[in-house]
Amino acid sequence: MAASVPRLRADVSGLPRYVPGRAAPSDLVDKLSSNENPFPPLPSVVAAMCAELGRVNRYPDATSRELVEELSAVLAVPPEHLVPGTGSLGVAGDLLRAAAGEGDEVLFAWRSFEAYPLLTWASGATPVRIPLRDERHDLEAMADAVTDRTRLIFVCNPNNPTGTAMHRGELARFLDRVPGHVLVVLDEAYREFVDDTGVPDGIALYRDRPHVAVLRTFSKAYGLARLRVGYAVAHPPVAAALRACAVPFGVSGLAQAAARASLHAGPELHERVRTLVAERARVTRALRAAGWSVPESQANFVWLRLGSHTSTFADACEAAGVMVRPFGDEGVRITIGTPEENDHLLKIVGGFGRVPE
Ligand code: PMP
Repeated sequence: MAASVPRLRADVSGLPRYVPGRAAPSDLVDKLSSNENPFPPLPSVVAAMCAELGRVNRYPDATSRELVEELSAVLAVPPEHLVPGTGSLGVAGDLLRAAAGEGDEVLFAWRSFEAYPLLTWASGATPVRIPLRDERHDLEAMADAVTDRTRLIFVCNPNNPTGTAMHRGELARFLDRVPGHVLVVLDEAYREFVDDTGVPDGIALYRDRPHVAVLRTFSKAYGLARLRVGYAVAHPPVAAALRACAVPFGVSGLAQAAARASLHAGPELHERVRTLVAERARVTRALRAAGWSVPESQANFVWLRLGSHTSTFADACEAAGVMVRPFGDEGVRITIGTPEENDHLLKIVGGFGRVPE
């Protein structure tokens, strides 16, 4: 039989790929490049996963029923409005498949989370990037950019990689300007690190707005990045479409068990989050005192806009023992680590005196 090549979607071969942060080259290098939680899982979370290990021959609960019920109680949201998935990335991909396809537009600020354009292309739709203004979402320009073809808008609050967050009034005005047939996804991957009381909880905004959905994750504040579990909070028509587009059994039993144990360990985990938030303030103060310009961050990272010096700075940090994340010739994002890791970072950056040439 003649050898032939399977016919794939014509647009797929040209799709850009997600480039994840590299692993640290050795244990001597501190990894402050992927917005991970620096603290290892709590013993109670490890115990819950160990109890699950003896059952890995069985499929997990496809609906994550117990996790949904517990989240429903914690968030005061009806269980039908909750859809867990394979990390919030997996849920974002499902939302795009549910809402957008060829010929449609998906809008988001830029720079923002680098997966938005990639997931949009993969769904067949076309990304529309609206430049940040002063490192913040330009909500007026985003609302102005809505066309008949717009199906979904990602709003990343706080924004990755700048850490900046929008306030209640501006966000509510924006949501009320967007037509009700356009789905607005409030990506709150970093919500737990917010300490500015002017930044709204997206769940308060979604309640009386059927076109708003909220994305959350267990990867950041809950420290379960490797397990891949996140969820959407959405009104029933959107939640039902999401369930229809999800890969069945997308949340493993280990992930469900660890996420539930993490919800039970709320106070201990919140204490860790408080430590990271205090460290964020300390790192920001120290960098500013040394003359660096640092936008106010509400997430577990800070942003330095370094333009053409970006890769030189990132390479010099890595050579000195700390990995940070460079973005093109725009800037670097530095994750807040343990106090010791942050000291290490500050010592290295202090040693530069200024951007290394
Ligand atoms: N949204 C934003 C804004 C992120 O920065 C990330 C992770 N870097 C995610 C979503 C995805 O997180 P996960 O898939 O691990 O839940």
